[in-house]
Amino acid sequence: MEKQIRLAILGSTGSIGTQTLDVVRDYPDKFRVNVLTANNNVDLLARQATEFNPEMVVVCNADKKNELIELLKETDIRVMGGTEPLNDVVALDSVDMVLSALVGYSGLIPTLKAIEAGKNIALANKETLVVAGELIIEMAENNNVRILPVDSEHSAIYQCLAGEDYNTIEKIYLTASGGPFRRLKTGQLENVTVKDALNHPNWSMGNKITIDSATMMNKGFEVIEAKWLFHLQPEQIDVVIHPQSIIHSLVQFIDGSMKAQMGLPDMKLPILYAISSSQRLKTSFERFNFTDYPELTFEKPDKEKFKNLYLAYFAMEKGGNMPCTLNAANEVAVNAFLNEKVTFLQIAELVEQSIHQIPYIAKPKLEDYIQTDNETRVLTENLIKK
Ligand code: MG
Repeated sequence: MEKQIRLAILGSTGSIGTQTLDVVRDYPDKFRVNVLTANNNVDLLARQATEFNPEMVVVCNADKKNELIELLKETDIRVMGGTEPLNDVVALDSVDMVLSALVGYSGLIPTLKAIEAGKNIALANKETLVVAGELIIEMAENNNVRILPVDSEHSAIYQCLAGEDYNTIEKIYLTASGGPFRRLKTGQLENVTVKDALNHPNWSMGNKITIDSATMMNKGFEVIEAKWLFHLQPEQIDVVIHPQSIIHSLVQFIDGSMKAQMGLPDMKLPILYAISSSQRLKTSFERFNFTDYPELTFEKPDKEKFKNLYLAYFAMEKGGNMPCTLNAANEVAVNAFLNEKVTFLQIAELVEQSIHQIPYIAKPKLEDYIQTDNETRVLTENLIKK
């Protein structure tokens, strides 16, 4: 039998985590799950552990550890509580690849630890590359680690680049659905509710990324993510709105040729392509049918309406610690919006104020990123209280 790929799945109870387990379930010869981690949802985590029988499980909310021990008392699975164990489980000898589906900044340190330990990374947590892309990519190169994108757009670009020389990329186009507010005018965004913003037309995802999709900060983050993954200059990355979400992204080469990766919107495909280290495996996923899609359409994103997208470009061009500030301010602002403390349009206003107020550091080290993240959270919280 071919050697199984032994996985640590960080964030196994979230949208990407559960879909990863759906994929893994179909290929018992290919994959073995050795670590599962979740923030809070011990019921689901215990069910997953019972089914996949990992060596270890971690619940990041340490208050839930005893509950999880009780749920798994009939097994010999090791149970740990708190966020610290994440930094150790990613380095276990019994793990070949770490799938990081953590949300936001929390993914940074466990990913760095996994890279240090020489583990390949299937990366769904794009904020890690937004915050500290330069550091992550440099460390991955030094440790001979592959970063395999799980994000559908980046998986698309990666698939288009198979067998190509990265130096022949002229530019890339990341496609965006436009989210739930594509048809609204800027003024109509004033009164949109949390419920409206959580109603994404094509993808079912966690709350944080769904709000980021509605503001298009998600696409801004993906632009920064692409810069690092594919070694691009800011002017080589463009965004096009494609409401049907069939073309997942495109590469334009120096000879003018374009390659696109297409398919029905289903995260299981990019997940499988990442955790199999870019293999083409037989699946039973639903196939695209041309007659269901007589039209594929494209539009330019509205700069005024989707201000976050342009703040992300601005932060990418400035570089240094500014993308880290962008991310932290956005996390705080999105959280405040989900708790109905700020309006939808205030998310971008808070991000804009924060990136201009936090001191700029051109060549940040890891400590600088940690400090920038902390300082920004305090600043953005204070701006919300005003
Ligand atoms: Mg995406």
